[in-house]
Amino acid sequence: MTSTTAAAAARATVYGYPRQGQGRELKKAVEGYWKGTVTAAALRDTAAGLRRATWRQLAGAGVHEVPTGDFSYYDHVLDTSVMVGAVPARHRAAVEADALDGYFAMARGTQEVAPLEMTKWFDTNYHYLVPELGPDTVFTADSAKQVGELGEALALGLAARPVLVGPVTYLLLAKPAPGVAEGFEPLTLLDRLLPVYAEVLADLRAAGAEWVQLDEPALVQDRTPAELNAAARAYRDLGRLTDRPKLLVASYFDRLGEALPVLAKAPVDGLALDFTRAAAANLAALAAVGGLPGKRLVAGVVDGRNVWIDDFEQSLSILGTLLGLADRVDVAASCSLLHVPLDATAERDLDPQVARWLAFARQKTTEVVTLARGLAQGTDTIAAELAANRADLASRAGSALTRDPAVRARAAAVTAADARRSQPYPERTAAQRAHLGLPPLPTTTIGSFPQTGELRAARAGLRAGRLDEAAYEQRVEAEIREVVAFQEKAGIDVLVHGEPERNDMVQYFAEQLTGYLATQHGWVQSYGTRYVRPPILAGDVSRPEPMTLRWTRYAQSLTRRPVKGMLTGPVTMLAWSFVRDDQPLADTARQVALALRDEVDDLEAAGTAVIQVDEPALRETLPLREADRPAYLAWATEAFRLATAGVRPDTQIHTHMCYAEFGDILTAIDDLDADVVSLEAARSHMQVAGELAGAGYPREVGPGVYDIHSPRVPDAREAASLLRTGLKAIPAERLWVNPDCGLKTRAWPEVRASLENLVAAAREVRGEL
Ligand code: GLN
Ligand code: ZN
Repeated sequence: MTSTTAAAAARATVYGYPRQGQGRELKKAVEGYWKGTVTAAALRDTAAGLRRATWRQLAGAGVHEVPTGDFSYYDHVLDTSVMVGAVPARHRAAVEADALDGYFAMARGTQEVAPLEMTKWFDTNYHYLVPELGPDTVFTADSAKQVGELGEALALGLAARPVLVGPVTYLLLAKPAPGVAEGFEPLTLLDRLLPVYAEVLADLRAAGAEWVQLDEPALVQDRTPAELNAAARAYRDLGRLTDRPKLLVASYFDRLGEALPVLAKAPVDGLALDFTRAAAANLAALAAVGGLPGKRLVAGVVDGRNVWIDDFEQSLSILGTLLGLADRVDVAASCSLLHVPLDATAERDLDPQVARWLAFARQKTTEVVTLARGLAQGTDTIAAELAANRADLASRAGSALTRDPAVRARAAAVTAADARRSQPYPERTAAQRAHLGLPPLPTTTIGSFPQTGELRAARAGLRAGRLDEAAYEQRVEAEIREVVAFQEKAGIDVLVHGEPERNDMVQYFAEQLTGYLATQHGWVQSYGTRYVRPPILAGDVSRPEPMTLRWTRYAQSLTRRPVKGMLTGPVTMLAWSFVRDDQPLADTARQVALALRDEVDDLEAAGTAVIQVDEPALRETLPLREADRPAYLAWATEAFRLATAGVRPDTQIHTHMCYAEFGDILTAIDDLDADVVSLEAARSHMQVAGELAGAGYPREVGPGVYDIHSPRVPDAREAASLLRTGLKAIPAERLWVNPDCGLKTRAWPEVRASLENLVAAAREVRGEL
């Protein structure tokens, strides 16, 4: 096939779409169903209506095959578990009694049974429910949801392509069920799972599917030869089926790497590859295997992970190169549009010029269609779109928001010395000891205290204009007084102000830094019915005014004990936002670091002796491929040091991390050069203390002794026993006593009791030293 005919055949498609609807109708219906105010039938109607509206909109925009089966009441990995009959034993009765209630029981648990575990979907902020499998798992096919949704789309007269989580990724995302030995590898169940996929594929074929998409994002991670063999076997077996639709195997979030030759050889009909983050590597690998003769190539050129308009010329150039490499080249977003908000035109509060730089799901759909048209019919058919695109890109590049000469000059002048404390740790620690005068095993908390009803009401009142700024600030001060008084009474050594003024640890700072934008409707699914509205880091970052000083100062005025300053670190400020894609992340991190450095310096000048800079996201932004990690960790740790290194030796820098297995980043934690690190550890019985000690970590450590993700109150004996475990790894002069994380999601009675017990435990163990 020549590249001209391949071009003529080009079509637009997407792999998935936000599920919630313009007014978050799905969230409301599902939560209403849980509360009993919405019937199952009404929930189903709402869902079907949302699906129809999405498909009509996609088809109306010019998408050729609409995706089906990507819709979910809660999570598409959970839907896959239902599709293959992998219902954990503890949920079976609930599922048999009522499929919908059983489904939600797996997702959220009930009084009697725990839910499935939830974890992040690759390096996104979407969380999926982890399949639980064991040697006794029996898979059975249940294609009802997939077949039903395909039928709905076909009934509208549309071309539709069911999207399924692929069998290899499904197994690689699973974990051993409770009670199954740790070493059990779910991938060993592949031969049992494939016949179930075969059955679902046959059902979809019978229901009218011409193509089915099998998503295999797990193949963009480093995979062992055994895992690659499993992928080869899976797609050989599925490919050889006679009664099946055409198979499109989709990859996204990174390069396919060594999995590309495996899939290129497999008897499947098409591959989808990510040409945003992984463009160069995927192009080279495709050329190296001699392209995909006889196969359909779906090119993910529009970034499905970020909110910026596409660079049409760049995408067309990639697409042009691809034309020579496959029989048919279709145009898509790099991944499901689930990870971006729905519609940028809903953002009426944004400067209209800035709004033109943004593309949410709806705009990305149009971009994909435009690119496919340009490819199929020639770029002169999209001349107007190209001109507009060029103008919008130029407006972004030339804007004072994205280019602040002062910020750029300052970042360019940074030297290696700026990211180094003036004295090495051993000398600093002596100075800090003299300055702070703390007992051994000092006690502290991670920052936030319960966000009370009054506080939330006050914040809502301020937003709605019912409360003026002064009244709101009085409320915040009242909360601070209560938090400080409690900590003094409880006998905590290093106090916090409790963060009552913060709605969220990233948003609070984003609202005060130049360069960040906020959206009104930019909701993105985090898990189930929980949606977040990440800020958009659009331009050069600076700090026009102090952000936290007022509150830390106020808290310090109430007590003679040290009050910790509390900031969110540069990596986390990036990780939980949409970030600009027009410069390296390292450059953006450096700008944020310099803005935070100003705050750190101001806090110190105001007499703050302890400053904590939280980096809970350090681990989660770790690149999917090992080879990319050192470069990331180098700029990430440098940004942290740049933010914190300007202080005097006797000022103590803390950092905090949670949500993670720390094994991969022990060296990076050391490279932060913080004086004290507090980490989540209660559930793993202080495991991280041993890991850090084993890696030779020389500084002070606060492994959590109070699991704040549970309403349970640990008693003093339990906390003391965790401390004794910690002492086996970390000597008393370097061990801190603190909870796992902030307390904002907990209620005051639990927090009071738990912290009193924590102080009692510290005192008891101090007596044993
Ligand atoms: N200082 C923050 C708090 O206590 C830290 C939150 C986090 O690590 N996720 O709320
Ligand atoms: Zn935390």
